[in-house]
Amino acid sequence: MTEPQALLRVALPVPLPRLFDYRPPEGRPAGAGDIGRRVRVPFGSRELVGVVADAGPPEHADVELREALAWLDPAPLLDGELLASLRWLARYLHAPLGEVLATALPAALRRGEPVPETHAWAWRLTEAGATALPALRAGRPRALAELLAAGTLDEDGLDGRLPGWRAAARALAARGLAERIAVPASQLAPAPRPGPPPNPAQRAAIDAVAAAEGFQPFLLDGVTGSGKTEVYLQAIAGVLAEGRQALALVPEIGLTPQTLARFRERLGVPVHALHSGLNDAERARVWAAAWRGEARVIVGTRSAVFVPLPRAGLIVVDEEHDGSYKQQDGIRYHARDFALVRARALGVPAVLGSATPSLETLHNARAGRYATLRLPQRAGDARPPAVHVLDVRKRPLEAGLSAELLAGIGAALDAGGQALVFRNRRGYAPVLLCHDCGWSAQCTRCDAPMTVHAGGRRLQCHHCGHRQPAPPACPDCGSLALQPQGVGTERLEEHLARAFPAVPVVRIDRGSTRRRDGVERALRTLGEAPGILVGTQMLAKGHDLAGLSLVAVVGIDEGLFSADFRAPEKLAQLLIQVAGRAGRGARAGQVLLQTHHPGHPLLETLLQGGYHAFAEAELLQREAAGFPPFAHLALLRAEAAQAELPAAFLREASALLGEADPGGRVQRHGPLPAPMPRRAGFHRAQLLLSSAQRGPLHALLERALPALRASREARRVRWSLDIDPVDLY
Ligand code: ADP
Ligand code: ZN
Ligand code: ZN
Repeated sequence: MTEPQALLRVALPVPLPRLFDYRPPEGRPAGAGDIGRRVRVPFGSRELVGVVADAGPPEHADVELREALAWLDPAPLLDGELLASLRWLARYLHAPLGEVLATALPAALRRGEPVPETHAWAWRLTEAGATALPALRAGRPRALAELLAAGTLDEDGLDGRLPGWRAAARALAARGLAERIAVPASQLAPAPRPGPPPNPAQRAAIDAVAAAEGFQPFLLDGVTGSGKTEVYLQAIAGVLAEGRQALALVPEIGLTPQTLARFRERLGVPVHALHSGLNDAERARVWAAAWRGEARVIVGTRSAVFVPLPRAGLIVVDEEHDGSYKQQDGIRYHARDFALVRARALGVPAVLGSATPSLETLHNARAGRYATLRLPQRAGDARPPAVHVLDVRKRPLEAGLSAELLAGIGAALDAGGQALVFRNRRGYAPVLLCHDCGWSAQCTRCDAPMTVHAGGRRLQCHHCGHRQPAPPACPDCGSLALQPQGVGTERLEEHLARAFPAVPVVRIDRGSTRRRDGVERALRTLGEAPGILVGTQMLAKGHDLAGLSLVAVVGIDEGLFSADFRAPEKLAQLLIQVAGRAGRGARAGQVLLQTHHPGHPLLETLLQGGYHAFAEAELLQREAAGFPPFAHLALLRAEAAQAELPAAFLREASALLGEADPGGRVQRHGPLPAPMPRRAGFHRAQLLLSSAQRGPLHALLERALPALRASREARRVRWSLDIDPVDLY
């Protein structure tokens, strides 16, 4: 027998928490230098792409191992800090390393495609185009040709200059008037434009970040419109001047063309954007540019936290409290928390910014783990909005709106301003009810009512997506008295358009604006003139609406009485963020808050003391109740088509966890039906684990999970483990 050859231990994207051994391809022995390279391997009857996580001698010399098929990278794709941080993440989430790595890599690289070239694309006029320009008809192609006549422009730059330029470029190219050319990314740096001179609070924040040595987390705690983005931009400029990279994470709906244009104009280097609107090739290209150290500034949503940063200088997390940072399926990481892990490993400062910091972050700041930087006032001349509560008990409401609120909107419009009516419920009405017998339209696959859409003609389940036409008569009693109950954004839009026929009414929610630039388009139709916006929390952030003088908030009362322990925090954040939309321009802002519970403690504290008074009170309650940030949670979820299986699995889990925790340091709550016990035809249950300390909880999971995975019950359900769950459903 020949000398046993060093093996590859490969992390594969399969739901088994282990590595898989292979003989290296091409007969060459494996070594430490192979760790982080992608290989194609046989797996059962399939082929998979994996990443070498370890190399070494075989544990059992006599086991016949399969040979890996091919190397996909000449050198490690993942190494250094990123690989180490991802290993940490896999341990922390108790998830298979292979699945974590697959989540971290862009889809094209996960499939085994080569690391793409990273030049940028630009457009220029051909000679024929220059000649033809004066004769072109007015329109987008002509507008584009005029822009290009002044010089070559890269595609990122065009995104900011001319909406809809892609179709125009195709039209010009088809006639041979313009052409697309590859250019090195570094050539395209526009000259940076200076921002406003920082005010003293901004100056202090910028200086503090610049003075940080190595890892240092900051909480940038600044009211809406206080100039937090200016602080990020200046801090990033400082990092760029040292030749280093910056990563800025923004919430899903915060990464608007407006935001990107601002970064691009101000920084004077190409800014790479990573968001869900990109195709696989574009995502891989940004990742590769970061990996090569060419991308100097990466601005992206949740998954951008996984970009390689070989020359890291700073990580920014804007709106750090935002729920979109938590991945809700698959590998359930929290991008803000992982950003901090990476900043520590990279030895760079991390700036978490918010007007409404999460209670976790406030707790960390108070404990001295984060340094707090405060921007207490709005920047420039903008003043904070005045908030008025409208008590609507016993008042008649039309489409959920009181006469005072309608009068307030009318006054704002008469004064030449714009009004935003906020209702966090899309659709026409939340319920379709039979007035004669009490029947209501329920989703057949979920324990939830169907939402009424299209003015009452259509029903849609917001949980599983199921759609059907609304029945013409009650299926139970045959009555024709079917009535939409309650008010969604569509109904508000209908009513406001009737009440204010002279001005445009624009609705913005996930139903009206599917496309990525949908919000911007909708806002453009509104323009600067008096008009009304109706929308959900899609409007709560990201867009600077200079003409907005009134924000009217309706239908928040259900949020005051939710069972979810995080509901008060989410509601307070939403109210402050929405209110912060008002009066960001020259006009003074006003907020009208319509409620049946004007004396509710949450509203009283929030209105009298602001978000921080609310947060103080809420932290005391969390401490008393033993909830995060004073406890650490893990949630086991299970679902199955048969009703009894999820609970059976969770009872087994509870028993195994109990045996492995003789000291009882971890509390088990449940198994209980999930807050929505049936969704998309699946019965759902959950088991909540909590512990005052993180250590015992993780140690217990480590001990008990192997037996749970191997259990008979585990094979009969779909189950998942959520570490630090945000939504307990
Ligand atoms: P935030 O990110 O806190 O909401 P921004 O950075 O977007 O705030 O600033 C809000 C507005 O105030 C923007 O229009 C910005 O250009 C302006 N602004 C920021 N800092 C200053 C400053 N120091 N002087 C004048 N205007 C400023
Ligand atoms: Zn009926
Ligand atoms: Zn449903």
